[in-house]
Amino acid sequence: MQIDEKNVNFLKKVEELSGEKITLCEQCGICTTSCPMVDEMDFTPAGIMRAVQIGDETIIESKAIWVCASCFSCTVRCPRGIDLSKVTEALRQLTLRKNVDHIDLKEVKKEKLPAIAVVSALRKFTG
Ligand code: SF4
Ligand code: SF4
Repeated sequence: MQIDEKNVNFLKKVEELSGEKITLCEQCGICTTSCPMVDEMDFTPAGIMRAVQIGDETIIESKAIWVCASCFSCTVRCPRGIDLSKVTEALRQLTLRKNVDHIDLKEVKKEKLPAIAVVSALRKFTG
């Protein structure tokens, strides 16, 4: 893939939003092997990092960034001190800040869910 200005700008935007230095990632894969949600993801955590490093904006359409539970298992083990949960949050924000919801709240309300799950869904999945 040819890296152009658009790719570099995307990387800078995610670094700015997350506060993390994504270029420090050495692709060791420890985040992937630490992640309890990886089986549900279409990109591994290390794959998410790689996509952002090369400025591949299509990563914001991945399922993986929404599946990340911000559990910090990867964060505490990353040898480069990167908080990957802040990176997935930044990637989610790129959609949510356009006032686009990731879930249909009407469907959530139809489910018999505990109040905390509804509040969490509101915070994580709606713009
Ligand atoms: S553990 Fe850290 S350095 Fe290793 S691939 Fe994941 S984010 Fe990159
Ligand atoms: S914070 Fe997200 S990516 Fe990291 S281990 Fe937890 S679920 Fe996986």
